[in-house]
Amino acid sequence: MSLVQASSLDCNYRKDEISRMKASPASNRSNGCRLCGGKQFQALEVAEDSVRVLKCRDCSLVFVDPQPSRWSLPDHYDEQYYQSWLTEQRPKRVKMWERRIQHLEKFKRTGRLLDVGCGEGLFLEVAKRRGWQTTGTEISGFAAEHAAKTAECEVFHGELPDAPFTDGAFDLVTLWHVLEHVRDPLAYLTEARRILAGDGVLVVAVPNLNNILMRAVYRLFKGKPLRLYEPDEKELHLFHFSSRTVPLCLKKAGFRIVRIGPDTGSVDRRKQIVDGFAVAISKITGRSIYNALEAVAVPSKIKTHVS
Ligand SMILES: [Zn+2]
Repeated sequence: MSLVQASSLDCNYRKDEISRMKASPASNRSNGCRLCGGKQFQALEVAEDSVRVLKCRDCSLVFVDPQPSRWSLPDHYDEQYYQSWLTEQRPKRVKMWERRIQHLEKFKRTGRLLDVGCGEGLFLEVAKRRGWQTTGTEISGFAAEHAAKTAECEVFHGELPDAPFTDGAFDLVTLWHVLEHVRDPLAYLTEARRILAGDGVLVVAVPNLNNILMRAVYRLFKGKPLRLYEPDEKELHLFHFSSRTVPLCLKKAGFRIVRIGPDTGSVDRRKQIVDGFAVAISKITGRSIYNALEAVAVPSKIKTHVS
């Protein structure tokens, strides 16, 4: 087991340089939509701190603008963030990960598994017990160290595109609710394509932008709408995906979808009940309104690159 440090994250910069970069967020509009290059956007929300949530008028990708600096993101995922996962939620989370890995084994029985954004490492622990050769990546220093120790495997501390993995190094790459937190989801997917074996499988799960039933229930009980961006939110969502934009992102990164449907990963009983209704309604209407999406994809025959 080992923790591999990303030297570019904190070793090559002086503290004053990092402070300056944290204070200078980057606009995500300047070069057009990251997915389609479109230049026309609709503002869905404007927060108190002037950060806007924009929707591309061409491909419907929704993102926060300006984006927080890369250097500020790990601060959101400190020891406190993981406390409930490590204590009272742990038994439920073990069951959730067992359900998820058993589901994935219908697509890929066993092999070399990379969990991107592995958090505290519980999925790696569960997968290893089932015979997978496990590796993780994680931007949180606390979580990366914890995962390397408890899951007894190599964990790269940093962003996936900075990790030193070789071409075709993995049979299964998983991104469980990671893409919505990163500044460049297309760079993550393109790197996942490069490090996945030719017969490998990619799994992506993200919150569903069109989770209208959960939003309605939230509004009913809280008396206010569920916002896409809150300045004080500990867990920032920088992108919001839908059943339209997930396939577009995967295709652009060189993948072909073999299954897309609900991701039922919540451990909150009340959310599970609401989402159960949403899944049922989605089946009847053909409209994906459940709380989270899961896409299983394989490399497409023709390799494409993100410019
Ligand atoms: Zn677009």
